[in-house]
Amino acid sequence: MTPSELSRRELLQAGAAALVSGGLLLREASAQARPRVSRAPKSIIFMVSDGMSMGVPTMAEPFSHMARGKGTQWFRLLQDPEAVVGLFETSSLDSLVTDSSAASSAWGSGSRVFNGAVNVLPDGTKLTPLAHVMRRAGKKIGLVTTTTITHATPAGFAASHRSRDDEHIIAEQYLGVVDVLMGGGRRFFDPEQRSDKRDLIAEYRRKGYTLWEKREQVRGRERPEKVLGLFYNGHVPYTIDHQNTPQLWEQVPTLAEMARTALEILSRSPKGFLLQIEGGRVDHAAHSNDAAALLWDQLAFDDAIAVAVDFVRRHPDTLLVITSDHGNSNPGLNGMGEEYRDSTKCLERIAQAKGSYVAIQDLLKKAGTPTPDKVREAVHEVTGIEITREEADIIAGVASGKPAPTLNRAHANLAGILGEVLSNYNGVAWTMMSHTSDWTLVTALGAGKEMFAGIQPHKEAFHRMLRLTGISFRNPEMTPEQAKRYLARAPRVRAVHWV
Ligand SMILES: [Zn+2]
Repeated sequence: MTPSELSRRELLQAGAAALVSGGLLLREASAQARPRVSRAPKSIIFMVSDGMSMGVPTMAEPFSHMARGKGTQWFRLLQDPEAVVGLFETSSLDSLVTDSSAASSAWGSGSRVFNGAVNVLPDGTKLTPLAHVMRRAGKKIGLVTTTTITHATPAGFAASHRSRDDEHIIAEQYLGVVDVLMGGGRRFFDPEQRSDKRDLIAEYRRKGYTLWEKREQVRGRERPEKVLGLFYNGHVPYTIDHQNTPQLWEQVPTLAEMARTALEILSRSPKGFLLQIEGGRVDHAAHSNDAAALLWDQLAFDDAIAVAVDFVRRHPDTLLVITSDHGNSNPGLNGMGEEYRDSTKCLERIAQAKGSYVAIQDLLKKAGTPTPDKVREAVHEVTGIEITREEADIIAGVASGKPAPTLNRAHANLAGILGEVLSNYNGVAWTMMSHTSDWTLVTALGAGKEMFAGIQPHKEAFHRMLRLTGISFRNPEMTPEQAKRYLARAPRVRAVHWV
């Protein structure tokens, strides 16, 4: 789209925004009471640990000491008087519980949308995403993630489409808009794997992007202007599997490495940049009720925080926001044993694990028909935990296709049952296997950090980022009442979204 097309659309949208009910505008005005800002940022780093309930950083701190002899960067930052702490309220236009696309769209457009939509209102109005607005101000754009690069959270900053599931279309929308892309999702660019056979990799190359597919390229010296980094066909593997599989370790960069390299490239931009860094698989591990996978991915995210904090210390004209888009299954370490004295030991057990549930399922698949003995063996090999014969019996039944015992219906499946059984040993239990409505933790550092103190609706982040960078722009909005009539026509999304 040319700049003149964009500004015409903006004008139309600004008109539509004025139609939003007066009550809503009033409430927003009060939510926008301006804190004193010491300095305007030239660049913004926005970090998202996707699906991170408050119990996750709470457990990650002692777990990090147990598993690797040092604490977390986030915990240190929270104790730093320089850092500002706040909360986001995260509801979407159709639910108190958001999915990742509605949450990222709220940050990325300032509007609430239906779950499953990427910067599109229920009436089909396409919203202008943050990346487009920032580009017009001369800023470079980067997206870095451990999911497919076309997944909901990165998409919410740079794409507009009615359904997050059309990742092949989101892949087209980044072209010429996002300068640095690093993550998984090769299949949405590869002509062999796209249903329309379109060669997006060649199109990106023609537009000046360098294709990266190996960890050594991220760690090397070459720093092209534009990078399309596709390091896995789907999502990048869980950190726990990544670091325990030599071939994966060789091939796939860590989130911290991708973040560091993206910053090296983007920081050459004279007018600054916008970079989103997502630890996307924290959410997936929470959906799977997999404590070891969850905590190791949170630590990988924490390593990326260290990179970002170091950058902000060296470039004080940068704003760093670290947060999550929603809670997920709300894990926590429970009181275990007499006087809760077993709880610490329980968390220590998670540090023995060598793989995620994916590794357990792989072992079971290799072993043929899952008998209780084979289940006990596979669980022990991967987690170091010896479950009882009775527990193994139930897991073996579910793994061979028998209906799972059902009390909490959300848990009546293999991962749900595994999570329940392992909670007897690691003390980490889960509410369900889906997102929650919890407020999310926000930590801000650097220029303009004051804007993120206290609690605010997540969509306010968009307005505040723009105000801080001196850009005047507003997308149209819809109230939940106005949106109700579109609910029946909303595209159906899967019950549990891998978001
Ligand atoms: Zn999710």
